[in-house]
Formats: sequence, C-alpha cells, structure tokens
Amino acid sequence: MPWCQPCQRYLAPSAMSPDGCCPSCGAAVEAGPFAASAPPAAAASRVPWHFWILLALAVAYLGWRAVQGVALLL
Ligand SMILES: [Zn+2]
Repeated sequence: MPWCQPCQRYLAPSAMSPDGCCPSCGAAVEAGPFAASAPPAAAASRVPWHFWILLALAVAYLGWRAVQGVALLL
C-alpha cells in the first residue's frame, strides 16, 4: 500500500496520480512492502509446480469418474 509521508496516510493505488505522486500534496509516494513484489499479472503467469500435479490428478479423477458414468449407462 503506498504511503504518503507528508499526509501521514495510506493511498489506494488507483487514488495516486499517474506519475506516482500523492493527489493531495503532490509529493512522491513511498511504495509499500507489497509494491516491491511482482505485479499480479506477472505473478499469475508463474504457476507453482504443485498446481500442475493437482490439475493432473483432478483430470485423471474426473476422467475415471466419466468412464464409470458411461459404464453405468451401458
Ligand atoms: Zn500527500
């Protein structure tokens, strides 16, 4: 969360001016601890490895359940 030192308040990222300054006093806003991390779009593109294991297991399970469902109808 961006923190404005002169105003002593937190700013929403959308409330900041486009050049990254405080809309009230115009001072450069300090980036909070969360601003140092990658933006959400970049974080979403890096999927952890265990997600793919979980996805593979879910697909295998649902595939097996589909086979069972078809076998029940025959
Ligand atoms: Zn300010």
